[in-house]
Amino acid sequence: MTPQSPLIPRPVAEPEPVPEPAESGGPMPYVLMYHSVDFYDADPHLVTVSPPRFERQLRWLAARGLRGVAVRELLAARRTGSARGLVGLTFDDGYADFATRVLPALVRFGFTATVFAVSDRLGGDNAWDTGPRKKLLTPAQLRVAHDHGMEVASHGRRHVSSTGLADADLADELTASRAALADVVGAPVTGFAYPYGHVGEREADAVRAAGYDYACAIRPRAASRHALPRTYVGERDGRLRLHAKLRRHELRWRGRV
Ligand SMILES: [Zn+2]
Repeated sequence: MTPQSPLIPRPVAEPEPVPEPAESGGPMPYVLMYHSVDFYDADPHLVTVSPPRFERQLRWLAARGLRGVAVRELLAARRTGSARGLVGLTFDDGYADFATRVLPALVRFGFTATVFAVSDRLGGDNAWDTGPRKKLLTPAQLRVAHDHGMEVASHGRRHVSSTGLADADLADELTASRAALADVVGAPVTGFAYPYGHVGEREADAVRAAGYDYACAIRPRAASRHALPRTYVGERDGRLRLHAKLRRHELRWRGRV
């Protein structure tokens, strides 16, 4: 038997996989997870990517014929079988640099993204975090993002772990944040991202019951439309690592990007 590397290129004649909606299991869409894009002195939790690095990462996607899109757009494209070449871009916590750094770069590339905002903290800072304080988007900045075609979605009211909440508190985090953000942008909010990526079956069920169309996790034990896996991207991710991460996703989730 010939030893086979999983990295050997596929045969060119491989049939196109039929895109399936990610209701449970099955091929998962490729979704990247960012938090903040800015210059920084200290970044102990590795949540910040410098603007030049971010620019190079977007250029890498574009050079491969890939387009960064909001998760809502990505899932809609999968439903119609037109998701080839689309990569979900997500930004957790709703940092103010989404408006000042991320948005201008995305617009230049013709990309969109999903920003997951913390509804009770708009205009405040990441007080839940032990790292450096970072300003969060104001309602006006969120509206600007929405007006530029970005998807505004929910990261809860207060950035608390969903798995640590009683049922009623979890339901409140989900429904109140969704209503508040919809009110800010004047449009429906259909996506959720679990703070800290914490999700189990109960949380995914609660998110579905609260009317969200999808939810993003990080490395869920049971991947589904309401617990989508995401790939972390950080300052260290140059083109070799970006390539390796893309290939790892394709192998792990049997989904050709
Ligand atoms: Zn977060």
